[in-house]
Amino acid sequence: MQQHDICILGAGPGGASAALHLANKGISCVLLDKAVFPRDKVCGDALSGKVVNELKRISPDLPALLSQQEEQLPSWGIHFISPAGHKLSVPFKPDYKAAEDVPSGYISKRIDFDNFLIEQVKKRPEITLLEGIDISKVERNEQGFSLTDKSGEHQFSTCLLIAANGAHSAFARHEAGIKQEPEHYCAGLRAYYKNVAGLDKDNFIELHFLKDFLPGYFWIFPLPGGYANVGVGMLSETVSQKKINLKKEMLRIIETHPEFKQRFAAAELMSDIKGYGLPLGSKKRVISGDNYMLVGDAASLIDPFTGEGISNAMISGRWAATQAELCLQQQNFSAGFMQGYDKAVYNRLWKELKLSRRMQQLLDYPWLFNQVASKASKNQALAETISCMFTDLDLRERLKQPSFYLKLLFN
Ligand SMILES: Cc1cc2nc3c(=O)[nH]c(=O)nc-3n(C[C@H](O)[C@H](O)[C@H](O)COP(=O)(O)OP(=O)(O)OC[C@H]3O[C@@H](n4cnc5c(N)ncnc54)[C@H](O)[C@@H]3O)c2cc1C
Repeated sequence: MQQHDICILGAGPGGASAALHLANKGISCVLLDKAVFPRDKVCGDALSGKVVNELKRISPDLPALLSQQEEQLPSWGIHFISPAGHKLSVPFKPDYKAAEDVPSGYISKRIDFDNFLIEQVKKRPEITLLEGIDISKVERNEQGFSLTDKSGEHQFSTCLLIAANGAHSAFARHEAGIKQEPEHYCAGLRAYYKNVAGLDKDNFIELHFLKDFLPGYFWIFPLPGGYANVGVGMLSETVSQKKINLKKEMLRIIETHPEFKQRFAAAELMSDIKGYGLPLGSKKRVISGDNYMLVGDAASLIDPFTGEGISNAMISGRWAATQAELCLQQQNFSAGFMQGYDKAVYNRLWKELKLSRRMQQLLDYPWLFNQVASKASKNQALAETISCMFTDLDLRERLKQPSFYLKLLFN
């Protein structure tokens, strides 16, 4: 039995960030993962400006180091395509100059990005990274928790467990009591294609809200080397109510939709079409307890409108490290003390998650969505306001007010 003050289960962006922030504080930990890196993770592979900010918080040189990697593509914005086909283009920075500015976002296959983080982990003597350890049993003991792997050969005992083992975390379900609620959970599929035509010259990612696939969305995200990440996402509630076969729907869109039929005419499917869950942060939950904290997808922190979860996993990993330091200093691992973690995470994320929930609900009113997109595609000032809304939360607040839509419709 190995003893560690802090044990982090899962070395994705959430767990790796927690470990790196702990290392920055001079605190050692063991970081366990069932996979051996580099490993794949089903994802849209889009890294937002928030990810870049979190990298900077780990170490100021990391954003520049990421931009030097061959396996990433800088992205300058998002195209939203409304159900009526209006294209609303939202640059991440207004008036950007692709050749000169530092990009605000990237697209990088997770097999590469997560390994980039693991490379940073491997440089830190404070972190004991153990790969290929599939933890199948977590039990309470007098210290806190004991963890045992599938083979029974590896056992760990810890007073503080940071569970960052993703959307299918058994610990989050059984110990923390986080239920998978279909109205707060999304199903997603991802495939890699080569030679999709008509990709944006500045690598804008594309989110298509198609009228015969609402309230779901279809995405095409350009990748290096002529690849594209192509996928669909839809609330699990709708998938089961309408008995939707997501894979069939995705192939139907690619093969029969007039625009995509053309754009995919010479495209080649380069992978299996794989599915995975997205636990949405559209509901506040208790994400810690006696001797543990949940991080990232295990804590259900994915943005309900954009499906973005990497940055929120990294943010929660950072706050888990802050709380862990306090726990060690005060030798207090009680659920009451651990509440400081929940407060910090939701202080940072709740406003944003709540607004995204509203925007997600806008998809129930496709006519309103069409009107907003149609007006914005003809009105530069409005398009810029919406562009700023993605970075400015106060502006985004306006989306909550009916007067915003009334003015828009009748101006
Ligand atoms: C289809 C789809 C598209 C998405 N698109 C985007 C996007 O474009 N941009 C974005 O920001 N987010 C996206 N997301 C969300 C994003 O993938 C997650 O939010 C993110 O991966 C969360 O990171 P994490 O560290 O919490 O968990 P993960 O990245 O899932 O890492 C968990 C780790 O735990 C390990 N693990 C699991 N069980 C065990 C065990 N028993 N023992 C040991 N180790 C274990 C796993 O091997 C894994 O390495 C998407 C998700 C899906 C499903």
